Amino acid sequence: MYDVIVIGAGPAGMTAALYASRSNLSVLLIERGAPGGQMNNTAEVENYPGFESIMGPELAQKMYDGVTKFGTKNAYGIVQDIKDHGDYKEVICEEETYQGKTVIVATGCVHRKLGVNGEENFAGRGVSYCAVCDGAFFRNKRLLVVGGGDSAVEEAIYLTRFASEVVIVHRRDELRAQKIIQDRAFANDKISFLWDSVVEEITGNDMVVTGAKVRNVKTGDVHEEPADGVFIYVGLEPLTEPFKELGILNAAGWIETDDHMNTKIPGVFAVGDAREKDLRQITTAVGEGGIAGQQVYKYIEENH
Ligand code: FAD
Ligand code: NAP
Repeated sequence: MYDVIVIGAGPAGMTAALYASRSNLSVLLIERGAPGGQMNNTAEVENYPGFESIMGPELAQKMYDGVTKFGTKNAYGIVQDIKDHGDYKEVICEEETYQGKTVIVATGCVHRKLGVNGEENFAGRGVSYCAVCDGAFFRNKRLLVVGGGDSAVEEAIYLTRFASEVVIVHRRDELRAQKIIQDRAFANDKISFLWDSVVEEITGNDMVVTGAKVRNVKTGDVHEEPADGVFIYVGLEPLTEPFKELGILNAAGWIETDDHMNTKIPGVFAVGDAREKDLRQITTAVGEGGIAGQQVYKYIEENH
């Protein structure tokens, strides 16, 4: 029986584990992939205090090194369910079930798919959701980036390190991205914009992407936009399906908590991007991780 089981080793889960283990609680951190979460898919991070600029995977490694120092145990596993037995919880993975007095859910979210023809077919052959993973394959190539949020615009800027030209395809005539990121994109000679436009289909030959059919939503005109790659950044979907039965999700699938990161179920906490909230950032993820890591200590003191 662990004092705390943390599900997900992104910045939120790692910080929760750090705080709980530094309170001398026994902590198990379960992760289905590499520790670091979305930081592993991020090029440069420029808004995490203490680092003027750092590559996402490097920040992930530094956080992980810190977490393991205080006795947190790690397990590989894809969590499928949590069963609430009142004073203890069962965390069920495919091949193993763990017991904990408390659980902190930190599973984050994933990129939304565009849902157009060609997207699935050309995944890994020109369609990508990760500039830091795939950008270097597109040296001196022409790329499309779909979306108008922070991810699309920031990753488009990163892609100009490799690509000869990056075209941002956005469904409105105004970006959603933060002003500072927008300004950088507007000032970048390699970046141009297709406003009021949506990708209807990703096209290619037998092997790779050659372009996309793009429709102007105002005029209805459709044209073929040549490209060697299409990077898709059209938002996020919560990774909370395993917790549906617990009744802690809202209608859109995000986990609802109070300011102390308590969900509706006593002893089950949630932190980071999987929560219903306004700002999904590394700073907010670690802040919430710290709060939950401290709250589990209080909860165990009062209830066990
Ligand atoms: P995540 O980082 O998503 O980690 C969740 C972890 O849970 C993952 O490792 C996942 O594998 C694991 N997991 C999920 N489901 C299960 C399961 N069932 N069982 C076991 N493990 C599971 N923020 C910034 O502050 N600055 C930036 O510059 C920045 N750039 C970004 C660029 C991109 C392209 C993206 C997509 C995001 C960026 N963000 C940035 C946002 C930031 O990365 C996230 O807000 C932050 O990583 C959220 O942390 P988290 O721990 O909540 O979730
Ligand atoms: P987002 O903010 O939700 O933006 C998604 C973008 O995709 C929007 O511009 C949206 O258009 C567009 N879109 C959505 N569905 C579409 C569809 N079907 N077809 C075409 N376009 C579509 O998502 P995000 O950019 O991935 O950012 C997610 C979170 O991570 C945000 O909280 C963000 O602040 C954070 N983040 C932060 C940083 C940073 O701080 N440097 C970097 C990356 C991400 P509309 O604008 O018209 O809705």
